[in-house]
Amino acid sequence: MSETKNEQCPTCQGNKVIEGVCETSPEWQSTEHDDGMVCTPDTKCPTCHGTGVVEKSEK
Ligand SMILES: [Zn+2]
Repeated sequence: MSETKNEQCPTCQGNKVIEGVCETSPEWQSTEHDDGMVCTPDTKCPTCHGTGVVEKSEK
């Protein structure tokens, strides 16, 4: 038996992407940030590279 075991990516919980988050801060309520809200776009998970699973490494 030489099958590769994959397990759910612990970083994205199998979602394949890191969900973007929106944050507000009073400090940003000026000039460049219109409403004081800054959002991060969804990002492909760097741990599993968008696969949702990672190779299980047994040591
Ligand atoms: Zn992941």
